[in-house]
Amino acid sequence: MIDCWDKTNEFLTREKLEEKQLVLLNKNFQNAKKSTYYSKAFSKIDKFSSLKEIEKVPFVTKDDLRENFPYGFVSVPKSELVRLHSSSGTTGTPTVVFYTKKDLDDWAELIARCMAMTGGTKEDVFQNTMGHGLFTGGLGFHYGAEKVGMLTIPFGPGNSPRQIWFMKEFGVTVAHILPSYAMHLYSGFAEAGIDPKELKLKTAYIGAEPHSEEMRSQIEQLYGIKAYNSYGLSEMCGPGVAFECKYQNGMHIWEDHFYAEVIDPVTGKVLPDGEEGELVLTTLQKEAMPLFRYRTKDLTRIIPGVCECGRVHRRIERIKGRSDDMLILNGVNTFPIQIEKALMKVEGIGRNYKIEIHKRGYMDKLVVYSELTEESFTDNFKDLEQLKCKVIESLKSELLITPEVHLVRPDSIEVLPGKAKRVFDMR
Ligand code: AMP
Ligand code: ZN
Repeated sequence: MIDCWDKTNEFLTREKLEEKQLVLLNKNFQNAKKSTYYSKAFSKIDKFSSLKEIEKVPFVTKDDLRENFPYGFVSVPKSELVRLHSSSGTTGTPTVVFYTKKDLDDWAELIARCMAMTGGTKEDVFQNTMGHGLFTGGLGFHYGAEKVGMLTIPFGPGNSPRQIWFMKEFGVTVAHILPSYAMHLYSGFAEAGIDPKELKLKTAYIGAEPHSEEMRSQIEQLYGIKAYNSYGLSEMCGPGVAFECKYQNGMHIWEDHFYAEVIDPVTGKVLPDGEEGELVLTTLQKEAMPLFRYRTKDLTRIIPGVCECGRVHRRIERIKGRSDDMLILNGVNTFPIQIEKALMKVEGIGRNYKIEIHKRGYMDKLVVYSELTEESFTDNFKDLEQLKCKVIESLKSELLITPEVHLVRPDSIEVLPGKAKRVFDMR
């Protein structure tokens, strides 16, 4: 039996999927014109005769959302709105998104697809360690898991000893967790003297922040589970936009709900499948707040070809980073995830790290603090120096610059609640 939730929509042919997209695009467009923003932006367009014609529409950005705060993009009467969420940005006016009852139901359906696609069923016990408040991660998965029929534990973030106790006592089989928190929680298991491999846990959904393939494999090995990459953003709905299937080879974008383009972030030109650029998304079914050509700032590429699972919904590659997270060090472009990848390749390197950038004279200096594992942590100066040389070599071959490296004791780098903040630019 194939693991799926909505066979009809998950297994459309490419032709049927594109036909459906065009119908939905036009319907969505009529709906969007009811918002203050699109009533002006769309005054010169009357319909789309092909999907390609979407390129006539100007992009929208987070700044547009902020400038039209709070209700400028809302396309339904306020009485139809039933939920508000906000994005996890910590500065300035927050971006706020709205949902009708149908939007919430569609969102739960999408999460149910993601969960079922990765083997989730009503027999599962699901612990959701994401915040269940303004951010979309917690409640998004909550309703999806209930739809699948899982016994759902809305635990929320933090309180590791209690998280672990719940996982053990209730035989949790599926967890939704930030990758950085999964790494941190492992220390909690070690403190409690419990090997997570002895739990019933078999699946984790990890996402909401960039992480490397190397970090995913570490999580899989530490816990003895499968960890699936989950991508989403509040402007589309939250999690449930793109998700890995069992083949773990890129994340399927649910293309009957989101029209995806990858553009050159500088020229705005649409790139062919396979080329790396910025992901641009259009909602196709959102009622409350439809968005056309939203610039996500997330850098990725569409993986050409059809997945082994048979779904034609195209896949995006693991997010490389956000265009605004790129570090320019003495003129060389680097993404934090490259640093993570280089660190995780070295045996003896632990579960957390942080990156500082300093100005030394006229030059930028990359300073990396990396935790050791319990096993590699030692007083032996010679061993530490050897390990440090390996780390520097690994970083040098990935980044082509020579960093300063500090190896620190396990669990000594502070972990704050929410998405990990790893880069501290001191310039
Ligand atoms: P928010 O709107 O606050 O939920 O944040 C959405 C942003 O989180 C996205 O635009 C991405 O930058 C990031 N994000 C979400 N999921 C992933 C993922 N699986 N991998 C990397 N970054 C992600
Ligand atoms: Zn697949």
